[in-house]
Amino acid sequence: MKFANVIAHQAEKKHLIHTVTENRISHAQMFLGPPGSGTVPLAIAYAQYILCQNKQENDSCGACASCTKIQKHNHPDLHFSFPIHLSKEKHIYKSDNVLADWREILDENPYFGDR
Ligand SMILES: [Zn+2]
Repeated sequence: MKFANVIAHQAEKKHLIHTVTENRISHAQMFLGPPGSGTVPLAIAYAQYILCQNKQENDSCGACASCTKIQKHNHPDLHFSFPIHLSKEKHIYKSDNVLADWREILDENPYFGDR
């Protein structure tokens, strides 16, 4: 996902791009906001910008091999970890076990149905 596809968050986008151009990317960052506010798309756009092989001034290229992998949610350097409901019957104990569902949800609506 490119920054251009993230609704709102203009100040945050500018700040995140600045951290990359100034080579001051924090080793860990939290994107917090109410459900549907777009923090997940913003975090993915930031990861794509960081990993893009042909960065533009204000966005990732969206076309290089790295961008393509991120847009398919299968870049080897982008990992998703999220809380899940524990289920002994389905042996769902970690987010890796529901990653296919996660990718499908991201493809359908990265705002998780609130937009
Ligand atoms: Zn790219």
